[in-house]
Amino acid sequence: MTAPVPGDLVCSAKACRRPAEHAVVWRNPKLHTEGRRKVWLACEDHREHLRDFVQLRGFLLEVVGVDELTEADG
Ligand SMILES: [Zn+2]
Repeated sequence: MTAPVPGDLVCSAKACRRPAEHAVVWRNPKLHTEGRRKVWLACEDHREHLRDFVQLRGFLLEVVGVDELTEADG
């Protein structure tokens, strides 16, 4: 069985209330310990914007679908 998927996942972009379809997973090595996974949820429109934001800073780990998130992500 798969874990229940929360129905209230919304995009992390400012002022955006669209349902999130993607998850930008990132980590700031200066703030977060190895293995820590921070997640920004993103709708279709904001996926690239949020991904580029963390990628420019060298924080990007991966971009996955929201259905691929695990309990270790947050
Ligand atoms: Zn959005």
